[in-house]
Amino acid sequence: MPRPRRHRHIRSSFDYDYWRPCATCLEDRGEVVMKMEEMESIRLKDHLGMDQREAADLMKVSQPTFHRILSEARRKIGYALVCGKALRIHGGTYEMAMTQARKFQCYDCQHAWEVPYGTGRPENCPDCGSVNIHRAEGDRGYTRAGSGRHDMQ
Ligand SMILES: [Zn+2]
Repeated sequence: MPRPRRHRHIRSSFDYDYWRPCATCLEDRGEVVMKMEEMESIRLKDHLGMDQREAADLMKVSQPTFHRILSEARRKIGYALVCGKALRIHGGTYEMAMTQARKFQCYDCQHAWEVPYGTGRPENCPDCGSVNIHRAEGDRGYTRAGSGRHDMQ
């Protein structure tokens, strides 16, 4: 029986979710899908220069697991570079370790704002004072118990 897959902790979202070589702008050579945790492993180990133990701790995985994730990430990057593939950063099994804010939006004036976790739900819109407010779409995936779960696709 397979063990349930533990979620890897990720501390940053990335500025982009698609990377592609300019030379193939006119010619689609296909893409490689890189999981979020794989991108995170590259960020921690290769970009920030952390040692493996530190990086594994941050992602809440064992060192062998971290090594596997990192190896897979490097394999995909190598494949994309050598073969001119695009990289799509998408999916995986992870949760955002640090979601700093909840987003709310006002139904009346459409003002949108963020409220830090642990401060309770706001009573009304800071812009127009309306009580007609709701959690902004796109924020909800990170708010349930076991928050921010994204399954592999
Ligand atoms: Zn408002």
